[in-house]
Amino acid sequence: SSGMAEAAGTVITGLLAGGHEAYFVGGCLRDELLGRPVHDMDLTTSALPEEVMALFPRCVPTGLAHGTVTVLQNGYSFEVTTYRTESGYADHRRPEHVFFVSDVKEDLRRRDFTINAMCSGLNGALIDPFGGERDLQLRRIRCVGLAEERFGEDALRMLRCVRFASVLDFAIAKNTWRGLMRQRDKLAHIAVERVRAEVECIVEGPHPQRGLALLLRSGLLPRGKAPFPWTGSDLAAAAARTAGLGNLQDARLRWALLLHALGSSAAAADELLRAWTFPGATRSSVVAVLRVREAWDAALSSVAPDAPGATEGLRRRWIAAVLAHGQSAAEGWLTLLAAAEDAAAGPVPAPDLAQGSAGAATAPPALSPAAGQQPVSATVQARLLRSWTAAMPLRSLAELAVTGHELAELLQKRPGPWLGVLLNKLLLAAAAGVIANDKQLLLQEAQRMDRDEE
Ligand code: ATP
Ligand code: MG
Repeated sequence: SSGMAEAAGTVITGLLAGGHEAYFVGGCLRDELLGRPVHDMDLTTSALPEEVMALFPRCVPTGLAHGTVTVLQNGYSFEVTTYRTESGYADHRRPEHVFFVSDVKEDLRRRDFTINAMCSGLNGALIDPFGGERDLQLRRIRCVGLAEERFGEDALRMLRCVRFASVLDFAIAKNTWRGLMRQRDKLAHIAVERVRAEVECIVEGPHPQRGLALLLRSGLLPRGKAPFPWTGSDLAAAAARTAGLGNLQDARLRWALLLHALGSSAAAADELLRAWTFPGATRSSVVAVLRVREAWDAALSSVAPDAPGATEGLRRRWIAAVLAHGQSAAEGWLTLLAAAEDAAAGPVPAPDLAQGSAGAATAPPALSPAAGQQPVSATVQARLLRSWTAAMPLRSLAELAVTGHELAELLQKRPGPWLGVLLNKLLLAAAAGVIANDKQLLLQEAQRMDRDEE
């Protein structure tokens, strides 16, 4: 935003007034030149960290050893880093030595790609010693210096390379790709959360298919080894089944689709997402979507298609799944069903569907395939399930017309686990439209259920 640019300009002006050099650098210039939104602005300066701190009392010594001070200005924060070079990358990630230098071009030389190795001052003139602007025009990712060496120093750069190629939809320069292929095994040195953060950018970005194809071709992910237990052919098959990935708005659904395409069970996905260090909230909502899938698959395979009442049985099981895993997980799964269909070879003609609730006039199609029959298309399933969901008169215990307290009072029992079981039975019956969501009727039904129990 221009507020951010103005605030960063104030910081640069302050550094200049202190007798130092200072520039906008790296990602913010790249994104600005591409017309993409700029999410943060990094500054590079000849001032030493203590000089920066002396000029700006409102600052945080973020990484003094590496020359980085975070300066707070007008409610924005900026990483201000002293010109530096690096050497000795024993662990293929962090430099052992950092040297502060006086020439900004030396600082630009340590940066990963030409498009990230430009800086500009307040007047807007670009300092671009490695042809970054030209590479932006040619839409390509190219290492500053010798790719093999740069990737050997810091193996994370290989994944950043694939990430930028994917997010920006850029090509990768030949020599850069060759260097990456020579160093790819070194990615094993990188901590899983760093790998995850880059793969997240790829999967959640605008061209996930491109990034996945590049990951596959590069062999960067340690194939067959935890926490990436898939072989190249698993990944290739999954890539073919995830054509709709980029159209999904919700990042969590993208992960659910990917794990679905990789054939992960909900339990396996849960473990994987944990091993990849995903935040718990992301993990549980991805897993809930896969649990809905499992519940629906189990329902489909448990019901004989021609049995009387088969469709009504499926409808109740679907509603039970919506209640158990939540409306948003259920809707997520329906979105994936439709996306899976987009990816399939050709559309299947959709027969007319009965509308939602029990006792509808026209019979819906048999959903589980009889022997030798084609399974009902995903689109048809999704439409039917959506209509069943839409017709649910309520979706949660909070909407049920009786409370646990009222039930315990009516049945003269102490609250206990039985109460939750009973409430959920009533909820299922009401949500399926088997009984109206009415206090008197529900209490009667509860009494009946309680008698049947005994
Ligand atoms: P974005 O913030 O959109 O992810 P970015 O390029 O700004 O992209 P940052 O991690 O914010 O990425 O890094 C800022 C700058 O620091 C980069 O533009 C690049 O010049 C340099 N840089 C970052 N990581 C590395 C690295 N691993 N090796 C060399 N230079 C790097
Ligand atoms: Mg950045």
